[in-house]
Amino acid sequence: MPRIVLERVRAGAGRRIPAVSCPPSHRPAARYRVLGEDLCPAHAAFSRKLLTTSLPTAAVVGTILTAINQGTVFFSGNLPGELWWKVPLTYSVPFFVATWSQLRALRVQADT
Ligand SMILES: [Zn+2]
Repeated sequence: MPRIVLERVRAGAGRRIPAVSCPPSHRPAARYRVLGEDLCPAHAAFSRKLLTTSLPTAAVVGTILTAINQGTVFFSGNLPGELWWKVPLTYSVPFFVATWSQLRALRVQADT
């Protein structure tokens, strides 16, 4: 099965995902193929295709890590001020790891 067809099937049968494309001014050294389009890192990372994996991963893993790292603090009822940056940082780690791993898998090799 051609790769683009396989990606569209994985995206959800019958569900139409709008095409993403970079403006002509984007000429990065690295390109990433998302649903048949070659995108720059920023457009690929925030495409709907990658966000549908990265955001749920961040929600699940971030909640587990927050419970492990801050669970006793939450249950004590005395919430220190530093939680405002620790909790979002805890959620951002699995988001960036999931995004990075997807980008690594979707990288288009440069023509030689
Ligand atoms: Zn772009």
